[in-house]
Amino acid sequence: MRGTRPAPDPISNGADHPSSSNQTTRRSLRRFAYQENGRTEPAQQDVEAGPASGNEQGTSLGKRKRNIAEDVINHTKAEAHRPPRKQETVPESKPLRKPRRQPAKHIKGPNGNVTVEAPADWQRVYNTTAAMRKRVLAPVDTMGCESLADTTRSPQDQRLQTLVSLMLSSQTKDTVTAAAMWNLQANLPGGFCLESLLQVEPEELNRLIEKVGFHNNKTKFIKATAIILRDQYNGDIPDTIEGLVSLPGVGPKMAYLCMSAAWGRDEGIGVDVHVHRITNLWGWHKTATPEQTRAELEAWLPKDRWHAINHLLVGFGQTICLPVGRKCWECDLASEGLCPSAQLNRSPVKKKVEVGVEIKVEDGQVTTAEEIVTQSDGVGIKVEAQLDGEGVVEMQAFSGAG
Ligand code: SF4
Repeated sequence: MRGTRPAPDPISNGADHPSSSNQTTRRSLRRFAYQENGRTEPAQQDVEAGPASGNEQGTSLGKRKRNIAEDVINHTKAEAHRPPRKQETVPESKPLRKPRRQPAKHIKGPNGNVTVEAPADWQRVYNTTAAMRKRVLAPVDTMGCESLADTTRSPQDQRLQTLVSLMLSSQTKDTVTAAAMWNLQANLPGGFCLESLLQVEPEELNRLIEKVGFHNNKTKFIKATAIILRDQYNGDIPDTIEGLVSLPGVGPKMAYLCMSAAWGRDEGIGVDVHVHRITNLWGWHKTATPEQTRAELEAWLPKDRWHAINHLLVGFGQTICLPVGRKCWECDLASEGLCPSAQLNRSPVKKKVEVGVEIKVEDGQVTTAEEIVTQSDGVGIKVEAQLDGEGVVEMQAFSGAG
């Protein structure tokens, strides 16, 4: 029967040559002492020759061995009192490495047709995000444009109110939009309906929405829209995307959201800055504008999610995946290794306050900001500005996935 042969002991190698064994042990100790002290191991001839300084020259072998042994003991003592390294405090649930981006795949068929394959993990990402959203209430849940129409009014009035709330919401916080809508509902003579919008003086309308960003322009857009609705749409809002985007101050994002919320028809995805930014962070695509993001998503996202994804990601962007200073350490997508942009360490948020900055408003006029606050974490940039006579505006920019 074969016995188990003991593994060769590297230290006892050359036991027949005591001087060789001593040298090996001495070199190992010296190497250990050098490496553990964070220094580079000296060249072999330096070890053999010993330090070149005057005091050490001519040191006997026994003294050198003692010094090395003391080095090791001192090092071991220091190690015992050293505070735990940062790496040791990272919770085990955090992934050590970011997962790869798994974008939607564009596959060209033999006939030249391009089909788009959904990102591999999209359902897990979507469902995990939905579960997180259920745990935290976001401003959009109670003050989003879809929930601001007065439900005691007729369906036609409610559609008008949804359209106006979307017009007011551009570059404005949900809380400010909601306050302006409640002001209109409470103070427009005759209630919030098309007739009252046609009759109210522009100055009065402007006063009622004065906290909203770019309220001067929005007053003009709302008054002009009211006339178009009366003259071209029989007093109701258009029920097509083309009709909605033809209204002053209404872009594709508002049009798709309005179609969905006011008419219950999902003809496209309402992609705002949150949807654009977060889906890029997830690595689903690499797009430069919200319109490009919309085209990418519509190519593969099941239609039954087209309405919900906006609400889902706006709230997620308001609470966890913030435009600046996203809270990856609170995010299940980071702990489950589902987000390629997860920040495993908190990055500093830079804040800067300036005065007297000029900002170009939508019609090309230049206005002055009384106070402007910019925040950036290297990936997102957020600007909040109190404009001269134009209310408070909020803008976000996204410089690409981090
Ligand atoms: S970037 Fe951070 S907060 Fe945003 S989805 Fe990824 S892990 Fe979550």
